[in-house]
Amino acid sequence: MSQPSQFAVFGHPIAHSLSPRIHQAFARQFGIALEYRTTDAAPEAFAAAVRGFFAAGGAGANVTLPHKGAASALADERSEAAMRAGSANTLTRLPDGRLAAHNTDGTGLVRDITERHRVDLRGHDALMLGAGGAARAVAWSLLDAGVQTLTIVNRTPETADALADAIGEPARVHTRYWNDLADLGSYDLIVNATSAGVLGGGLKLPMSLVGARALCYDLAYGAAAIDFVAWAKAAGARYAWDGLGMLVEQAAEAFELWHGRRPDTEPVYQALRATV
Ligand code: NDP
Repeated sequence: MSQPSQFAVFGHPIAHSLSPRIHQAFARQFGIALEYRTTDAAPEAFAAAVRGFFAAGGAGANVTLPHKGAASALADERSEAAMRAGSANTLTRLPDGRLAAHNTDGTGLVRDITERHRVDLRGHDALMLGAGGAARAVAWSLLDAGVQTLTIVNRTPETADALADAIGEPARVHTRYWNDLADLGSYDLIVNATSAGVLGGGLKLPMSLVGARALCYDLAYGAAAIDFVAWAKAAGARYAWDGLGMLVEQAAEAFELWHGRRPDTEPVYQALRATV
């Protein structure tokens, strides 16, 4: 009998990861036997750990903080999304054994909003807080999904400017300073792509940002998103969601890259939602 194929998620720390649970649940939908383990690798050990995993027959890997940039750099080929983001969350093995880097975070977010929640993003004026790794992936996907304008605000303004420059659409993409948030008016979509919460985490966000049809979305999920979601609801947001759906959708994209089949994400999302 053949051995189940081997998958892993690399991060540091990694014990908290829901990815093994998600991928096992997807695999059960198709009767696929696989092993999916978490691998804690410090930054200096990451590249060797990944190469060792694939040399030993690994079929595919996910990558999370702090290794997404390194994952893209070590691959032999990069998808357009990985190139644009400058980072990768998924590695696939090409038929000749070389590695390809993909980034499914942005598509995951957009699928959660437009397919699970059935909100059409076309014409939305969007505000994105943060310009780190996840924000870079998400920005292009929001533009691809048809947001009208994207305003990027980051604690370190140079990083927001660098992202806007990389996108290169000055008519649609703007940067503003954090201290000016109270003067920016309101938005239809507010994405918290920072790793800081609102109340406990110290993000100071004026409620005037929240427009009449606003969708507020925290890429963090569960307890880490509670403060942002509470702030959004108090400000009158029409929708206020955490990033659990994005997590499941980005995993589904990775699953499809590895197995060529698209899992049904809804039962997996609902099962996780009951525990997160
Ligand atoms: P990075 O470390 O790359 O970026 C962190 C961002 O948060 C930067 O823009 C940083 O600003 C900002 N930030 C950190 N602390 C503060 C603070 N106290 N005040 C204001 N801004 C702050 O992280 P990622 O981009 O990878 O992740 C961001 C979030 O997205 C995390 O919560 C992560 O868990 C979540 N995520 C969720 C996913 C999902 O599937 N749901 C997928 C990927 C990420 P500065 O540049 O100034 O340091």
